[in-house]
Formats: sequence, C-alpha cells, structure tokens
Amino acid sequence: METKYCTAIVLAAGRGTRMGTKTQKQYLAVKGKPILYYSLKAFEETPSIDEIILVTGEQEIEYCKKNIVEKYQFSKIKKIIAGGKERYDSVWAGIQHAKADGYICVHDGARPFISRDIIEKGITEAKKYQACVIAVPVKDTIKIANSDGFVESTPERSAVWAIQTPQIFSYEIIYKAYENLMKQEERNVTDDAMVVEKMLNYPIRLVEGEYKNIKITTMEDLLVAEAFIQ
Ligand code: C5P
Repeated sequence: METKYCTAIVLAAGRGTRMGTKTQKQYLAVKGKPILYYSLKAFEETPSIDEIILVTGEQEIEYCKKNIVEKYQFSKIKKIIAGGKERYDSVWAGIQHAKADGYICVHDGARPFISRDIIEKGITEAKKYQACVIAVPVKDTIKIANSDGFVESTPERSAVWAIQTPQIFSYEIIYKAYENLMKQEERNVTDDAMVVEKMLNYPIRLVEGEYKNIKITTMEDLLVAEAFIQ
C-alpha cells in the first residue's frame, strides 16, 4: 500500500448551542478528560496519521495548547488554528493550513469514540477511491417529511446510511471542492461529502464504521458517553 502524507483536521470550533451548557461540549469532561481529548488521542495513536490540525475558536487556542496538547503530550498536533462561523468555514481554514499533498481526514472533535481501526480502514479505502466517508446502516425506518409535517415518502431502509466522520479525501479533491464551495453565495452543506458531491459530483465510497461513534450533541449523548467510557 502506498504511503502518502495524511493530515487529520479535527474540528472543535462549534458553539454547541444544543447542549445548553456554558462550557462548549467539546471541553466538557467525561471521566476527567475533555471530550476533545479522546478523538485527538485516537488520531495521535493511528500510525497512518502524520499530522493533526486542531481547529478551534479564536478564544480557545491558548486553552487547547496548554490544557490539551501540552498536558497530554500530543506530538502530532502541529497547528492549532481558529475556525469560522459555520462548520464548512472551519474545514476550509483547516484545508488551507494543510500540506498540499496526500490525504485529508476531516473529523468532528465531538465524536470521541472513533477508533484507530476505523481511521485506518478509512484511509485504506480513501487510497483506493480518493473519497470516502465512515457510515453505518440506519436501524430506524427513515421518513422524508414535507414542510407541513406530513410524510412524503419512505426510502428503502437498506439503502439509507447514517453518515459520521472521519470523511477522507485526496488533498486535490477536497481542496477543489471547498474552493468551489467558497465561491458560492448559497452554501447549504452539512458535511464534507456533500461538498464533494455538489461541487465535483465525484463518487464517494461508504465505509462501514461503528454505532458507538456518536456525535455528542445533547445532554443524553453525554450520559451515553459516560457509559461507553466505563
Ligand atoms: O454543530 P455540529 O455538531 O454539526 O458540529 C460538528 C463538529 O464541527 C463539532 O466538532 C464542532 O465543534 C465543529 N464545528 C466547527 N466550526 C463550526 C461549527 C462546528 O469546528 N463553526
């Protein structure tokens, strides 16, 4: 398997308003360590990852440097940079600081249970397909609703996947897709694959991940996280 430079962009610049706490969710402690610590540790310990760029709020750069990077001696975190208003602004900031080579793994810092095995599996698939996302088949039936709150249709469950992160792309693909996106006035995107789909129409490979790779969004998720860490 070819060895190419792999940069992880770990996102932690969100305000987390749905959590309803004063502290942003990525800094809330689970088992004595901030949520963000766990995903950074997984990337730090993944052999194929060469470098981590941590994207955080302007005000939290110093905190992250002292209380996360130095405290836990994360040697692969080479840069801590300020993100932007929307998730895509934060990703674009990360891409612009990344080495213009190899592969880029974009990961939500609010997903602490990503495993080294899944990161490696994603990188292996990205080397084959140039664009892939970690995902799991949905367990619930999904309905498409209309704006009046009535069911419009029901996609066949076996064809529906819940998309997680990391989302991994060759540098050229993610750079081009985001460069195009940032030129648009309307940027209605919720993940990186959607940027690649909309801007380049490039095929994206689904890579089966794990159900435990949840995104901590609300208080209930925090309780689940505590249980997972036990
Ligand atoms: O808001 P959401 O839960 O979708 O955020 C997913 C990830 O993106 C989180 O880790 C969050 O910190 C990050 N994010 C960011 N910059 C933003 C918004 C979200 O880095 N402006």
